[in-house]
Amino acid sequence: MATRLTSDAKRDETAGPLVKAPRKPGGSKKPLAPERIAAILEELRKAYPDVVCALTHKNAWELTVATILSAQCTDVRVNLVTPALFKRFPTPKAMAAASLLELEELVRTTGFFRNKAKNIQGAARVVVEEFGGKVPQTMDEILRLPGVARKTGNVVLGSWYGIAAGVVVDTHVLRLSRRLELTSHTTPEKVEQDLAKIIPQDRWIQFSHELIHHGRAICIARKPRCVDCTLERLCDSSDKTWGSH
Ligand code: SF4
Repeated sequence: MATRLTSDAKRDETAGPLVKAPRKPGGSKKPLAPERIAAILEELRKAYPDVVCALTHKNAWELTVATILSAQCTDVRVNLVTPALFKRFPTPKAMAAASLLELEELVRTTGFFRNKAKNIQGAARVVVEEFGGKVPQTMDEILRLPGVARKTGNVVLGSWYGIAAGVVVDTHVLRLSRRLELTSHTTPEKVEQDLAKIIPQDRWIQFSHELIHHGRAICIARKPRCVDCTLERLCDSSDKTWGSH
């Protein structure tokens, strides 16, 4: 008898019995086969055709600040905080001259607020003093901003400037890339290197948006909703909660 494992998941009754997928110790036979990668990309593109960055922003500077604030925090929470922050300090110049205590209060609810306030003010100062008030457009330059690592750099360069300098690897991209056997690494830097080798560069920007949305909605950390997953037939993860093959 089938075992129901996903009581809260919607399911297509034609999709077969609800059984836990048997663990395949070896995973996919050829996880990096070009046709498998192409199929994953196509399914994601079809599932999320218009996906965009979930952080509210009007320019590169706002996106930089929002991404710094999003560390260890939800985008929803960041979007609640940034309107008042940018109303009070609308430009890098204004934020560079702000009172640190006031900045801390404005970003307090995003967590790690002392560090984040220090970083966004430090970033504002570097943008003003070294880049004429504009967020730079190369990875080497943007990494000079305090609080900005490759993830934030890729978000800003990709989502605002449309420059595919790399692949955004956040917690969702890292988890899904491992479940889909696109990498075996555990650090964002190594995962990004693996993804950059197998994903065509013209898909880098959208691919990370798609994986982030898929990770939030379906391939969630604790109990992935495999019964609703468009990638299920391509996935042999040992984390699966349901399998058709
Ligand atoms: S089948 Fe399950 S584990 Fe695999 S990608 Fe989909 S939701 Fe994630």
